[in-house]
Amino acid sequence: MTLFRKNLIDGEWLGEAGSRNINPSNTGDVVGEYASAGPEQAKQAIAAAKAAFPAWSRSAPLVRHAVLKKASDEIMARKDEIGRNLAREEGKTLAEGIGETIRAAQLFDFFAGETLRLSGELVPSVRPGVGVEITREAVGVVGIITPWNFPIAIPAWKIAPALAYGNTIVFKPAELVPESAWTIVDILHRAGLPKGVLNLVMGKGSVVGQAMLDSPDVNAITFTGSVGTGKRVAAASVEHMRKFQLEMGGKNPLVVLDDAHLGTAVDCAVNGAYFSTGQRCTASSRLVVTDGIHDRFVAALKERMEKLVVGDALDAKTQIGPVVDATQLKQDEDYIAIGRKEGAELAFGGERLDAATPGFYLTPALFTGATNAMRISREEIFGPVANVIRVGDYDEALAVANDTPFGLTSGICTSSLKHATHFKRNSEAGMVMVNLPTAGVDFHVPFGGRKGSSYGPREQGRYAMEFYTTVKTAYSFAG
Ligand code: ADP
Repeated sequence: MTLFRKNLIDGEWLGEAGSRNINPSNTGDVVGEYASAGPEQAKQAIAAAKAAFPAWSRSAPLVRHAVLKKASDEIMARKDEIGRNLAREEGKTLAEGIGETIRAAQLFDFFAGETLRLSGELVPSVRPGVGVEITREAVGVVGIITPWNFPIAIPAWKIAPALAYGNTIVFKPAELVPESAWTIVDILHRAGLPKGVLNLVMGKGSVVGQAMLDSPDVNAITFTGSVGTGKRVAAASVEHMRKFQLEMGGKNPLVVLDDAHLGTAVDCAVNGAYFSTGQRCTASSRLVVTDGIHDRFVAALKERMEKLVVGDALDAKTQIGPVVDATQLKQDEDYIAIGRKEGAELAFGGERLDAATPGFYLTPALFTGATNAMRISREEIFGPVANVIRVGDYDEALAVANDTPFGLTSGICTSSLKHATHFKRNSEAGMVMVNLPTAGVDFHVPFGGRKGSSYGPREQGRYAMEFYTTVKTAYSFAG
């Protein structure tokens, strides 16, 4: 019998079967059927979150700590099962799925601790006899809208701080990966959240997401997804004068200098460009390589790519899983055609692959001879496609790295302290990596970018407080 998952609204599981969740490694495998909410249910969820806010925002930190810690423990205990379902619905490998599940557990654990670390400041006033208290309070109802590429980690890094700081939530996950979202909500619900504190409204972005954007009762929206939708979130939020936070695309450069350790540079490129099927906003899609190492780097990279095993996400031997769905596969292939037309050379891959089961398999693609002006170097492809852009020296590499509408991550492979230091200071990205892949970050430090990649306060770590709380300055006269 097919699994059927409902929405959680005001503590009740509700809804009729609406959408099917298909395994991209095997399109004959249906993960389950999921409720698809309409605007009325979205409104009910927002009303429930609003009603639950006063009590939850005033709850004792230990109450919030207990729920978050319990959720963390259950996620960790079930990491293999949850990670497997994640790999099954999204297409990243089993190891990546389990790793991402562990990350979700770590995020809940981190923010469980943060509930007990909230503090304020007591400041003398400029006026005699007056004291000033600076404290942080919960914002209210937070709308959480998430993409499909990190089905459990992104919901976790938004839900955990929202709850820790006393907010209530309306959560709309991406349509393609509802199982991970449902699981995390089920765990939190059973961990003891009062009704209405966390509401799950699976459904279409244009319906449920839009209802959230249009509601005056949603006090803040945190969004990760495409630039186009991010702009809609921004425009609608300004209309309501609400807080919003956006994480969108990237076109992240990995600079490889002549003095780089070749093995490290190739490791960084393969990991950054192709792991998780290149479907990470932090992926290295531009490999900016100086003349002296260019040919050796390309040869070594191609040699490594030949050995990459593309296949069923659930097969333990697989290193690169399928693309998430038919639409994304078409987008990847369209960009590969665009790159060729623009005059870049497809040096490796970019072909559909037949596997034992019907799925969206694409071999990792490498373009050489690309320029930074080409569309494949300027627009986010969001697939296993990377371009080598050849440059003369470090200065040109830095200029090319920064010449992009995006600014999420950047990386440099070099053994020069001078260039590494200069790059860290002058790269126009929110996160900079030295001798590390552009993708792969820690959970206890700020995450976010600049320019067209991000808007609003950073996510994760203690910096998350900036978005999920609002500051109050209270003055009192004591004579
Ligand atoms: P992607 O290309 O990664 O799917 P989207 O921006 O389309 O990026 O989707 C990210 C999230 O935004 C998903 O949960 C999606 O359902 C949601 N979304 C899409 N359209 C809208 C909209 N008009 N309003 C609010 N949310 C939306």
